[in-house]
Amino acid sequence: MKDYAAARKEMIEKQLKARHITDGRVLAAMEEVPRHLFVKPALQHEAYDDNPLPIGHCQTISQPYMVAVMTELLELRGHERVLEVGTGSGYQAAVLSRLCKWVYTIEALEALSVNAGKILRECGYDNISFKVGDGSRGWPEEAPFDAILVTAGAPDVPDTLLKQLVLGGNLVIPVGDRFSQTLKRVTKTESGTKVERHTGCRFVDLVGEFGWKKL
Ligand code: SAM
Repeated sequence: MKDYAAARKEMIEKQLKARHITDGRVLAAMEEVPRHLFVKPALQHEAYDDNPLPIGHCQTISQPYMVAVMTELLELRGHERVLEVGTGSGYQAAVLSRLCKWVYTIEALEALSVNAGKILRECGYDNISFKVGDGSRGWPEEAPFDAILVTAGAPDVPDTLLKQLVLGGNLVIPVGDRFSQTLKRVTKTESGTKVERHTGCRFVDLVGEFGWKKL
């Protein structure tokens, strides 16, 4: 069997530190979380490779570097309640759960949410709440959130998510067309928002009321 702990260490050095991921808490969380358990057994030997992988239902688990960039941009310190839109495999939720107080994660596809919930519970991550539904609408019953991460590509920054963010909170979201996006960090300020553009990226669609309409 592959030495997964060694594969994780190599991932940290060659894919993350080498590309200027510097937040020690993010690096430690990604060294700890067993990414291979979040992909199908047939793909586990590729779990620490430098790319996204299919998780079924035409969806993907994001590339480790992209998970690291998005997580670092949230600037979590440990006390936060964080909303994740797009549970997918559950891997990103596991990483977030190591870095904040509570994760609220929404997935549109029930089968993925159920599967992620099962793995996360088996791994002992017990500070995560799950919901099946349209995350482009947020999770109004649990708002406001200290940080929001959208892990699917959106045509625009949904206003409804900004309304569910605390003042000073960060919303990290890929925005663009259906083929390529820019990772944006939107910080809620007294006077509105501050928007920063980070790396180019390619995500599956955020499908929903405030995302893309189904074709
Ligand atoms: N964060 C995931 C992980 O760690 O595996 C990867 C997410 S995958 C790139 C994007 C996910 O967003 C898919 O599972 C997709 O079904 C989900 N999705 C798309 N539109 C959504 C919506 N409106 N609400 C919730 N989830 C959505």
